[in-house]
Amino acid sequence: MKERYDVIVVGAGPGGSMTAKTAAKEGLDVLLIEKRQQIGDPVRCAEGVNKVYLKEYIEPDPAWISAEVKGSKVYSPDGTMVEMSEELSGAEVGYVLERKVFDRALAREAALAGVEVMVKTRATGLLMEDGFVKGIKAEYMGKQYEIMADIVVGADGIESKVGRWAGIDTTLKPRDMCTCAQYLMTNIDIDPDFCKFYLGNKIAPVGYVWIFPKGRNTANVGIGITGHMSGEVRALELLDEFINKHYPDGKKIEMVVGGVPVCGSIARTVSNGLMLVGDAARQSDPVTGGGIFNSMWAGDIAGKVAANAIRRSDVSAESLQEYEKKWRVELGRDLDMGMVVKERFTRMTDDELNTLAHSLEGVDLGSTTLIGLVWALFKANKKLLWDLRSIFIGIKEIESEVKKEVYT
Ligand SMILES: Cc1cc2nc3c(=O)[nH]c(=O)nc-3n(C[C@H](O)[C@H](O)[C@H](O)COP(=O)(O)OP(=O)(O)OC[C@H]3O[C@@H](n4cnc5c(N)ncnc54)[C@H](O)[C@@H]3O)c2cc1C
Repeated sequence: MKERYDVIVVGAGPGGSMTAKTAAKEGLDVLLIEKRQQIGDPVRCAEGVNKVYLKEYIEPDPAWISAEVKGSKVYSPDGTMVEMSEELSGAEVGYVLERKVFDRALAREAALAGVEVMVKTRATGLLMEDGFVKGIKAEYMGKQYEIMADIVVGADGIESKVGRWAGIDTTLKPRDMCTCAQYLMTNIDIDPDFCKFYLGNKIAPVGYVWIFPKGRNTANVGIGITGHMSGEVRALELLDEFINKHYPDGKKIEMVVGGVPVCGSIARTVSNGLMLVGDAARQSDPVTGGGIFNSMWAGDIAGKVAANAIRRSDVSAESLQEYEKKWRVELGRDLDMGMVVKERFTRMTDDELNTLAHSLEGVDLGSTTLIGLVWALFKANKKLLWDLRSIFIGIKEIESEVKKEVYT
């Protein structure tokens, strides 16, 4: 470990490793620190990711692909199934990863690009000077260190402290968080070609159950419910109920509990000498909770922006607005649209969800366009169309806000 770097990245999840790799490829001297002794372990993820998106950033490797699926099957409360192609299924459907291996592969790519990677190294605070972040305080093997850098990137996940240390408000209210529980289950009869989602206010109030196949009769079976519901019901109890009903002979071989931010875009993700990436910047999808690809996307932007800022010798918050603007153009807009959709869909009764599913029965969602989907819904239920109209108006408003913010 040296006394100073161009960039220090805190956290070696997908967001951190991607930031570090891109910054190193841009010629910067980068340190990536991870508090755990093993990158990627323990896993707190259902491990689903869209393969088309992912291929933009990493060459697929069978070592970290547990399964490849064709699409998703969504079940409404009365058991009506809607099948969707991979393209319509969103950023979480395509590959089911082995994240212990995947996260390590990303860190390896960063290391090969020239990044110094240090595990068992925890950031404990920021070094500040004249209102600028100038590096980090860190603990490694019981010893305290002060390490300087022009830019610090907080990629320290949902429990992020880096943002707060820099005065950025990353607070999550209970309704802005999805509380998750998951088992890795084996000896279960699964469809190896599809990810499955079960909706319903009894099954998973303000959330859903997922089954992501991992090959050999094994799958991640999990549940996510919005934090404000978890006072009334416990995610793990609901998951056990679901499993007893659907997989009474299944064997649980691993358990995961964790949270995902589902709050839409936050107001600020940069300060003088600092950027936030991934879950630390609350960049996960508010509808699905997916954040693997989003964090990599934002990380790639942050790595490039770090290089630009250092080249122009200006790491002020104003200069780092380049990051704010770039990630908000597409990802930020998607997050805010997701919030509009989430707000409406989480208020749906089981009857409304059933009606929605019935109206899509017989529609070939493998080949339909978004317009085709809306038309099928319209034919089935005018009230739903009215609701969708309010969603589209919300989306239009967001788009014009984004345009104003980005192009002025
Ligand atoms: C149950 C569950 C299921 C999920 N399923 C999916 C899914 O199927 N698909 C999907 O796309 N997303 C899913 N997600 C979300 C996804 O896991 C996250 O969005 C993604 O991991 C975010 O990546 P990240 O790099 O921002 O943060 P993380 O992957 O959380 O990485 C942050 C890293 O920072 C380290 N760190 C924290 N503090 C410090 C510190 N002070 N010093 C040094 N290191 C530190 C942590 O140890 C960690 O390794 C799921 C989440 C949960 C909880």
